[in-house]
Amino acid sequence: MPDTAPPPDDTRRLPSVDLVIRTGPGQVLVERFGHPAAVAAVRGALALARTTREGLTAEAVAQRAAEALARDHAPRLRPVFNLTGTVLHTNLGRALLAEAAIEAATEAMRCAVALEFDVTRGERGERDDLIRDLLCELTGAEDATVVNNNAAAVLVALNTFALGRGAVVSRGELIEIGGAFRMPDIMHRAGARLVEVGTTNRTHLRDYQAALAADIGLILKVHTSNYRIEGFTTAVAAADLAPLARAHGIPLIDDLGSGTLIDMTRLGLPPEPTVAAAVAAGADLVTFSGDKLLGGPQAGFIVGRADLIRQINRNPMKRALRVDKIRLAAIEATLRLYRDPARLADRLPTVRHLSRPLAQIEAMAHRLVPAVQAMVGPDYAVAVLPCHSQVGSGAMPGDTLPSAALGFGASGAALDRLAAALRRLDRPVIGRIAQQTLRLDLRCLEDEAGFLANLAGIAP
Ligand SMILES: *Cc1c(COP(=O)(O)O)cnc(C)c1O
Repeated sequence: MPDTAPPPDDTRRLPSVDLVIRTGPGQVLVERFGHPAAVAAVRGALALARTTREGLTAEAVAQRAAEALARDHAPRLRPVFNLTGTVLHTNLGRALLAEAAIEAATEAMRCAVALEFDVTRGERGERDDLIRDLLCELTGAEDATVVNNNAAAVLVALNTFALGRGAVVSRGELIEIGGAFRMPDIMHRAGARLVEVGTTNRTHLRDYQAALAADIGLILKVHTSNYRIEGFTTAVAAADLAPLARAHGIPLIDDLGSGTLIDMTRLGLPPEPTVAAAVAAGADLVTFSGDKLLGGPQAGFIVGRADLIRQINRNPMKRALRVDKIRLAAIEATLRLYRDPARLADRLPTVRHLSRPLAQIEAMAHRLVPAVQAMVGPDYAVAVLPCHSQVGSGAMPGDTLPSAALGFGASGAALDRLAAALRRLDRPVIGRIAQQTLRLDLRCLEDEAGFLANLAGIAP
């Protein structure tokens, strides 16, 4: 190997920071990003040129500083195309909000709002009052409150009724949800003592009865959101636990996880417990998420007996877990849409995506294939593939929705390259690789033209 000659030392031809800033492009940087950031970026560009011993004009340094600043100022929370086939993808932000919710949230951001102020009486009000009536109307519950998310709803309920006491739960329902939500850990942090009853596959009413001899604060029923126990199984329904809890004077709490406000089978979807049914079954409190099937912003709802909700609202933990005006505005607008269930699919993206007819998705896939094939080039064989979407976020586990995908066939390394190229697009496109094929499930794609315009920038 012959020695390569060191690069010629051109650094003496580098301009000063001041000179770069005074150029036309330098002034543009100051205008756009402010003097300190512009100077720091120019220093950075000069330091880099010094390490590579490059000579650069002042304009060229300004250009490099501009590129660095543009990279640095691009938002980190970037919009993406969710073509994973998981409609409520936790890592991609779960539910997309309805336009009415977006408008309400925007207005709340821009204006002073009557958050804790009763405009009629001119007195201090409560922020929960904004959505209490709606929640009660839609669930049949007596009272309602809202916190940061459903994990917080479970946490504050456990802490309110089982601090230093036992919380009884079936061994078949000791769930772990993604993101470190493990029921035993939440119980521990809530200050409750976990009292497990039954076995993984079978829990009987007598198991609960036996546990109630000790100092118990509540019975918790948990919807097994992300798994199913099948075969030789028994679980006790909330309706059968309710009389037991009542006889012992302790609340029965039903954590529905996703829950839904409408009967999903009316949309041709698999059944998921409705909050109203859980309330009617006799749970004293029911907890559920705002950004799962409900299709709103991140939030956790607790509905049920007024005396229990009052106790939760007096817990200082509730204050630490409360939601802000922006989300309350979006929640109120989202809940209002449920007063007209027939038009939900038009207005609520989550419902629209879940209930989208297969034929419509397939037709879109067939329309897209020729243009997409031309953009990715002959190394990839693009075809319409049948696939199965998932609801996601622990709703309807085990059920899938027939859908259609753009499939890209190629060797493993080429597929990884394609997936990376899709992620590098202005709006990253997120799909799924399985069985030597990259699939882009089109269930959640609505902006077909925008998708193609974005994809035109691909360089696999
Ligand atoms: C999803 C889920 C939670 C957590 O809800 P987040 O809104 O994600 O905090 C709790 N319990 C069950 C059963 C769930 O499915």
